Amino acid sequence: MTTRLLVDTDAIAANTRLFAILAPGDLMAVVKAQGYGAGAELVARTALGAGASRLGVTSITEALALRLAGLEAPILSWLNPVDADFEAALDHDIDLAVPGVAHLDAICRAARRHRLVARVHLQIDCGLAREGCPAELWPQLLAVSAAAAVRGEIEVVGIMGHLSSADDPADPANRRERTRFAHALRLARAAGLFVPLRHLAATSAALTQPGARHSLCRVGAGLVGIDPTGTHRLRGALTLEAQIVDVRAIAAGTPVGYGHGWLAPRSTRLALVAAGYADGVPRTLATDAEVLVTGTRRRIVGRVSMDQFVVDLDGAPAAPGEYVTVFGPGDRGEPTVADWARWCGTIPNEIVTGVGPRVERVPVAASTAVAAAR
Ligand SMILES: *Cc1c(COP(=O)(O)O)cnc(C)c1O
Repeated sequence: MTTRLLVDTDAIAANTRLFAILAPGDLMAVVKAQGYGAGAELVARTALGAGASRLGVTSITEALALRLAGLEAPILSWLNPVDADFEAALDHDIDLAVPGVAHLDAICRAARRHRLVARVHLQIDCGLAREGCPAELWPQLLAVSAAAAVRGEIEVVGIMGHLSSADDPADPANRRERTRFAHALRLARAAGLFVPLRHLAATSAALTQPGARHSLCRVGAGLVGIDPTGTHRLRGALTLEAQIVDVRAIAAGTPVGYGHGWLAPRSTRLALVAAGYADGVPRTLATDAEVLVTGTRRRIVGRVSMDQFVVDLDGAPAAPGEYVTVFGPGDRGEPTVADWARWCGTIPNEIVTGVGPRVERVPVAASTAVAAAR
């Protein structure tokens, strides 16, 4: 019995090639959160083989796991507490984002202790009020960084920002935040820092805002086929399949599941499927959520449990042992990740990163992806 996530590496490679064409400079494959659920190492290797030149993750822990897996490409880690293991990061050649002077000091201490030069990317907050240095502290961060560079403790190789509203290219915040980033770059040059890697765009801006692409784009969601802007035809790379454990006939009026969340309006057959919210099938579903059962869409009825859910077969043929498709690229009529996001009131990113750790990740090339899903 396996619930499995088929990862179409041909689709990831095709999506990567598109972004490599759009990005005038480097392309960083963002593989945080287990590569958007698909497996960090698998997405990293596939993207590096298709035009990405760098990898990006949030934590040092994620970065070290990639190094341990044997990946030698440059890796940037951009979200760490000030007491993170910067020494391990330096020992393993990990680039570090610097959101402020406290982080810079900690990184400089680690560099002195290990007699290494830390490669850093200064991080400016362009308008999210989240990670990154607030604009009013930027000149100070530049001055302290320039001094540390002169001492030979760091090399400032990058300046990075992040957009608040890129999913909607028409939002005026985009222009405002691009301008703030450009201003931060000018201040850096004025402080004597000439940095090769200037990066602002993630998936959405890489697709729709040429003025945000600068010398590097950081792309995560797009690699697995998610286009938050709805403007491009990326290839969905992920197919979640789960097995039917049992099929039973029930009479009209039979209540189904915890709290009797559904009453059968007619006699029907039910399929019990071995995947639940621990596997990434959200419990917060709308009532019209469906899966593909032997080629037709069938509704999920009753509450999704931790390990299982129930489908109203409503006349569809199905036998124990068969796989149902929870989501996929949509080519065979199966629901997509975007459908699931809509049913759950969220975005596709949350659906794919919610696929649980006990789900087996199975790499497949496109041709075999279709065959395996049948
Ligand atoms: C997650 C993340 C990205 C990648 O975003 P996508 O929209 O998935 O491409 C880029 N930059 C930062 C700072 C991030 O946190």
